[in-house]
Amino acid sequence: MANIMIVDDSRTSRKILKQILEDSGHTVVGEAVDGEEGYLKYKELKPDLVTLDITMPKLDGLEALQLIKKCNENAKVVMITAAGQKEKMIQAIKYGAAEFIAKPYDEEDVKQVINKILGA
Ligand SMILES: [Mg+2]
Repeated sequence: MANIMIVDDSRTSRKILKQILEDSGHTVVGEAVDGEEGYLKYKELKPDLVTLDITMPKLDGLEALQLIKKCNENAKVVMITAAGQKEKMIQAIKYGAAEFIAKPYDEEDVKQVINKILGA
């Protein structure tokens, strides 16, 4: 079971994801509403895994991903994607994203991706 941080500007999206993660036995140790707050909280909380929405204000998911990876090259980061973000997904792979989860969330998909990354 892991300590996970959720970074997403959508309150509803954070709430749904938190529920799925907690139902899977994980602990959501923190939430952030934009990329900048996500990066700052990452350094503070040092979670086992971070979920990063791609489209966010201040710093978007790709910018936050780069900062987090600079801070810890082994950081496990899952990008949360929406339809039509293929280019950004390709960039995220270059920057070291571990995996992707598509919105709207499919509970089984979320669980599989998280367990795969955690090696469960
Ligand atoms: Mg968003």
